[in-house]
Amino acid sequence: MTALLRLDSVTAGYGGATALDGVSLALAPGEAVALLGANGAGKTTLLKAILGLVPATGRVAFAGADLAGLPTERRVRLGLGYVPEGRRVFAGMSVRDNLEVASFAPAARRRDLLERVFALFPQLRVKAADTAWRLSGGQQQMLAIGRALMGEPRLLLLDEPSLGLSPKLAAEVFAAVRAIADAGTAVLVAEQSTARALAAAHRVALLRLGTLLHDGPADALPTDALRAAFLGDPLADAQAGG
Ligand code: ATP
Repeated sequence: MTALLRLDSVTAGYGGATALDGVSLALAPGEAVALLGANGAGKTTLLKAILGLVPATGRVAFAGADLAGLPTERRVRLGLGYVPEGRRVFAGMSVRDNLEVASFAPAARRRDLLERVFALFPQLRVKAADTAWRLSGGQQQMLAIGRALMGEPRLLLLDEPSLGLSPKLAAEVFAAVRAIADAGTAVLVAEQSTARALAAAHRVALLRLGTLLHDGPADALPTDALRAAFLGDPLADAQAGG
């Protein structure tokens, strides 16, 4: 596979504590990968290591470039989009303005991008003139994702997009994740809730205590690996070589 993103033995931590321990992972263009793991498994740290928001050792290569030493804004310019946990939007600005200011493209291109976001999230088109604080949590998550898409990323990094959403809205967000990947933008989505993330993803990577426990197709995830990632099942640990 010609990888868009390739991590080789990436290790990162905070002070003396290791949060991510020798993780190797690759994503192909247009691939949706669910990064699953319990609270504290290292999912956010992995996304931040890709973005250069935490110091990391090992190798991160993206779109053929070694990202070592590159500041976050250079990585973003290479085509990384990031939606952190907590769906940050400009609460006092309209939905349309939130999207427009997220693009540096010329006006005609910006209109195309806006149209694409509205096609992906029809609720945002309906609410285009509303201030963002009036949106529901799910709509704010859609807006946060839309803002990232306005930057035309080649890889979108999403941190727990379903957090705090009703099952119906979470399902809509994950349907959009799959549609984004199907349209050619790779997506790496960190999640604690598994079923919906698995349904939307091509592949799944399971993290446990900072190490990669399993990496494989989303439709063939061994239940023992899933159990180990979330419950620390000792039998599954042994089977996984732990
Ligand atoms: P969550 O689902 O809670 O977001 P996560 O899988 O994203 O969990 P991380 O946030 O990457 O996990 O955390 C991995 C480990 O690093 C945890 O043990 C956490 O306590 C620790 N950690 C995270 N951020 C910091 C920080 N700023 N300072 C110190 N330790 C941190």
